[in-house]
Amino acid sequence: MRGNRVWHRALGLMGAIVEDVDVNDPDLIVVRVRPVKRWAGRCGRCRRRSPWYDRGAGRRQWRTVDVGLSRAVVEAEAPRVSCREHGVVVAHVPWARHGAGHTLVFDRTVAWLATQTSKTATTQLLRISWRTVGAIVSRYWADHERLQDRLREVRRLGIDEISYKRGHRFLTVVVDHDTGHLLWAAPGRDSATLHQFFDLLGPDRCALLTHVSADGATYISTVVKQRCPNAVRCADPFHVVGWATDALDKLRRIVISTARRQARRAAVDRIAGGSSPVVTAGQAGADLVKGMAGARSALLRNSEDLTENQQVKLAWIALTDPDLHRAYLLKEGLRLIFKLPVEQAATALENWITWARTAGIGLFSSLAKRITRHRASILAAIEHHMSNGRVESVNAKIRLITRVAFGFASPHALIALAMLRLGGHRPALPGRG
Ligand SMILES: [Zn+2]
Repeated sequence: MRGNRVWHRALGLMGAIVEDVDVNDPDLIVVRVRPVKRWAGRCGRCRRRSPWYDRGAGRRQWRTVDVGLSRAVVEAEAPRVSCREHGVVVAHVPWARHGAGHTLVFDRTVAWLATQTSKTATTQLLRISWRTVGAIVSRYWADHERLQDRLREVRRLGIDEISYKRGHRFLTVVVDHDTGHLLWAAPGRDSATLHQFFDLLGPDRCALLTHVSADGATYISTVVKQRCPNAVRCADPFHVVGWATDALDKLRRIVISTARRQARRAAVDRIAGGSSPVVTAGQAGADLVKGMAGARSALLRNSEDLTENQQVKLAWIALTDPDLHRAYLLKEGLRLIFKLPVEQAATALENWITWARTAGIGLFSSLAKRITRHRASILAAIEHHMSNGRVESVNAKIRLITRVAFGFASPHALIALAMLRLGGHRPALPGRG
């Protein structure tokens, strides 16, 4: 009996009695168990005590954590009971989730590894596919989601959309500005999806929200206006700067493709024995394409973080393409406005809008219009010190998880993994508290 207690502890077989252990196959240890009396004869779905129905499909096995280098399974009878609510159903077993092929200890180990280590470490250590990890993480989260009231003390929210798959598949995500935790995520980006969140939050807690930040999407501001009557609506500074960064990058690509075209035309012309002005322009184009290598990182970087090489690159851009350099200065200017005290920011923003409108760059005059439309929420973000750091870092982490989660069968597995990693309640290793 003492030996059985060791197995009971080693495999975390709560609620089970170890009957015997088959160690004939060194590669597969079979631990035969039965539920303790208290947990026997219950419905697998609601756990209500129910009358025995039949033996079901006989004995079955659940994969559990390895014992040293050997695989291990838990084996037991899996009779069916007749529940008055759920009908004929396989009886509950205390060591595994209903319908699962792995033990709870195994599931929890997967959840811990998936939130702490890499995909390779998780799948190789546990000898399961990444898709199985996705399924396990989903059911683990489904069981734990109900246990915590994550939304209890939320006052300041950030709402965002994140693309998780090519072909315009999006998640709506809600982040707590104060803790930096991911609060909620769901597939879709439309008002119906966002309403689901506010339904979950409930009208009382909606009324307690003081600030809600979001990117510029109109449907978000419409829903927020409707559901959060007392909240100040703010722009997400990092999204606003992101608009400028996108415009700058677009301009960079246009500059390169124009130069490329010029170079190509000159090459064709040269073969045809063409005129020298075209050839000269073509050479300039080719030089520009060459020079633009590495320009992207210099242009997109914050000015205070530039390396010496990147500073040289920017100086070169200022000489060769003044428009592109002006676009860079506009992006940096916009970024700096968010660091100003609110009384200076209002004037600075006005000046910036005028500058962008009159800079002679189409992409930035449209951006000036967009910024004008969001002026109030941008200034609200500055006034209420809605720091973008937390939301931005959660955002970056979710993007990383969307890449890691590639291969999961459904977006719900991705959401489960993101919630477990970023929701502020990381799973603990089994047997450690
Ligand atoms: Zn039942």
